Amino acid sequence: MVLGTYKEALSARSTEQKILDVSQDGGIVSALLCYALDEGIIEGAVVAGTPDDDWRPIPTVVTSSDEVIAAAGTKYSMSPTLSAIKEATRQYGLEKVGIVATPCQVQGLRKAQAYPFARFVADKIKLIVGIYCMENFPMGSLDTFATAKLGFDSLQDATKMDIGKGKFWLTKDGEDSGLAIKETHGYEQAGCNICMDYVAEWADVSTGSVGSPDGWSTVLTRTDDGESVFKGAVEAGLIETKPMDDVKPGLPLLEKLAKGKKDKNGKEREKRAKMGLPLPVEY
Ligand SMILES: Cc1cc2nc3c(=O)[nH]c(=O)nc-3n(C[C@H](O)[C@H](O)[C@H](O)COP(=O)(O)OP(=O)(O)OC[C@H]3O[C@@H](n4cnc5c(N)ncnc54)[C@H](O)[C@@H]3O)c2cc1C
Ligand code: SF4
Repeated sequence: MVLGTYKEALSARSTEQKILDVSQDGGIVSALLCYALDEGIIEGAVVAGTPDDDWRPIPTVVTSSDEVIAAAGTKYSMSPTLSAIKEATRQYGLEKVGIVATPCQVQGLRKAQAYPFARFVADKIKLIVGIYCMENFPMGSLDTFATAKLGFDSLQDATKMDIGKGKFWLTKDGEDSGLAIKETHGYEQAGCNICMDYVAEWADVSTGSVGSPDGWSTVLTRTDDGESVFKGAVEAGLIETKPMDDVKPGLPLLEKLAKGKKDKNGKEREKRAKMGLPLPVEY
């Protein structure tokens, strides 16, 4: 299956305005973490904040809904999120930890859970919320998009960053400026070109915008834990849902993009293998 194993696919969004005001898409990540914290399913979570408001994602341990919401929104650069698990478990002493992770980070986490040397820490991860990811950019690339390509004085002038409808978008003073995605090619981190997972196939629950209308998210529940947290948040009235068949562009677009990534990056992997270059993850 091109989207990995999942139980249910739904279009969804948070029902809380304070989440929707700051979230990237339907606020599903923040809504799930807030619900899981309130219910004691997790005692804290590792998210990617940007404490200096400069778009640099900094792994941050959060233990309250306010802190979850303060870290909402996508930063399109690499967050060394897994590095904060030790802080969450050792310094904060958390026994039940949630985490927001890109597909590659979810893979790392699942491996850590499978290997005894890291298990004592990784076993404390009770909820993995995976976010879809086509590619990621070094901070220098984001600076180039903002200043050299879109004419901003500084990346820090941007109030929102997004990718959609074939463009990389930066918002400033309420106005959106778009850069054609083909103009961003070559600026992504090199490892993204051999990554085969678009939809965080190994997460408990995965989410992203593709497939759903603006302001909504496409959610794939995957594990029993992921399904239970998502259903709990829906039953508590914190998330509203629509069947994927009722929304446009729907699941076919998500499947098309996930397959496109596998096809394109699969070819790059073959090319690198022929050159004798190492490929870190086997598929
Ligand atoms: C590099 C990147 C590429 C993406 N590409 C796509 C795509 O091609 N298609 C698509 O549909 N969705 C993509 N997404 C996901 C999308 O941008 C949203 O993050 C997702 O839909 C969740 O939105 P939300 O409103 O539910 O989350 P929110 O409630 O806004 O919460 C977002 C959460 O993500 C965390 N976060 C922010 N930046 C990062 C980061 N760099 N690394 C790890 N965690 C982070 C925040 O801490 C926060 O907890 C991408 C995300 C990233 C980080
Ligand atoms: S494209 Fe793959 S390797 Fe790159 S950040 Fe996203 S999940 Fe990680």
